[in-house]
Amino acid sequence: TSPIHVIGGGLAGCEAAWQILKTGHAVVLHEMRPRRMTEAHRTDDLAELVCSNSLRADDPESSAVGLLHAEMRSAGSLILAAADAHRVPAGGALAVDRRGFSATISEALAAQLGFTLIREEVPRLPAEGPAIVATGPLTSDALAEDIRAATGAEALAFFDAIAPIVTRESIDFGKAWFQSRYDKGDGKDYINCPLSAEEYAAFLDALLAADRRQGRAFDDAPFFDGCLPIEVMAERGRETLAHGPLKPVGLTNPHAPEHRPHAVVQLRQDNHAATLFNMVGFQTRLRHGDQAQVFRLIPGLENAEFARLGGIHRNTFLNSPRLLDGTLALKDRPGLRFAGQITGCEGYVESAAMGLLAGRFAAAEAAGRAPAPPPPTTALGALLAHITGGAEADTFQPMNITFGLFPEPDPAFVEDAPGFNPKRPHRLKGKLRKLAQSRRARAHLAEWL
Ligand code: FAD
Repeated sequence: TSPIHVIGGGLAGCEAAWQILKTGHAVVLHEMRPRRMTEAHRTDDLAELVCSNSLRADDPESSAVGLLHAEMRSAGSLILAAADAHRVPAGGALAVDRRGFSATISEALAAQLGFTLIREEVPRLPAEGPAIVATGPLTSDALAEDIRAATGAEALAFFDAIAPIVTRESIDFGKAWFQSRYDKGDGKDYINCPLSAEEYAAFLDALLAADRRQGRAFDDAPFFDGCLPIEVMAERGRETLAHGPLKPVGLTNPHAPEHRPHAVVQLRQDNHAATLFNMVGFQTRLRHGDQAQVFRLIPGLENAEFARLGGIHRNTFLNSPRLLDGTLALKDRPGLRFAGQITGCEGYVESAAMGLLAGRFAAAEAAGRAPAPPPPTTALGALLAHITGGAEADTFQPMNITFGLFPEPDPAFVEDAPGFNPKRPHRLKGKLRKLAQSRRARAHLAEWL
């Protein structure tokens, strides 16, 4: 039988290839790097993490993305196995050493029988045969054009921003300190930089006055709300940052334990060697020179050395609710599937999750079976159902997994849990509600698998 072609060796493409190979079917993976790079990728690694090194919260009972991790692990995900193998400390989050993570993925794929990697740009949608397009938010121009032509101008361009990375040795630990919020995880996974009310005001003034590098072309760029540039968030109100990514709660400054800071900037470990830390929430599109100047106003970062500055990027995605069927195939080209961020999910984990499903669906079809989507009570199924039909097509925007996408919880799953009120079983709130969603999801996923 002919191999399944997977276009794009990113998070989704690698996961899709892996899921297909595990069924014994052959895969040809097409990756254009290093021959053609994107605006954000720096290496020729498969599954390169282009920005943060965090796959976000890992607890399946309190976080929807943590639940997605758990489901993917039980479905034999390569991305999750590689992340677990290269975990770096990050409180309750699953953060990884990015080079080790990518290396493990390349090696695991290369070791599978029936795997071929071709380093080339695919400029057009394949005319026939089973294929999965997983070319991501930075799909090459030629292919994006062809997709636009094939789908009737429904593939959109949209913009996101990325955060700077600072070297640890350039941080002043006479002012900064190690601690995780509420001492989660190891208790000291993050670097914290405190700002007094005056320092915060000065920082904010400088941030608002700074130059926006990308200029007019990007002035009207619509941003995804979960990844707003810090200068855009700051415009929403003088205390927005102090109540958002810079909130000072759950932290005690050992250099001045009696003074609660007005705001705290957190930096998260970015590599195994713990030499690089990224500024949490500091995605930005400021001009590079201005970024360095403004961010060095933060106490502890006066002499910060930036291993990478923030930037802006394109985000190409389909109007999936209109174009794709419930198994991620183009409605008028059933053998042609899409996976990853280009389907209008948002995030590393969500992208890999849609790769996992596309791979399984393609493999099932290649084996002569009808692909069966996971139930919408699971995280995999809820996200799939949202992007392939649940979402409003006219206002479709990239989506992270959240418990809000799940059907109403079933109280039967938490009858034994502390705080459950048998007199009002359907009044599930907060933690108990998430626990009910999570337990049901894992039970239903096990049946589906
Ligand atoms: P990718 O991982 O980008 O993989 C697509 C692959 O296809 C790439 O390797 C590319 O080189 C290749 N390719 C493209 N066109 C072609 C072609 N025509 N032929 C052959 N190969 C091709 N998500 C987070 O969770 N956290 C973050 O911090 C985060 N930051 C981001 C920062 C930036 C700059 C961008 C662009 C996105 C960010 N995202 C982030 C969103 C998203 O999770 C990632 O983009 C993720 O990598 C998407 O996975 P993917 O597999 O869909 O695409």
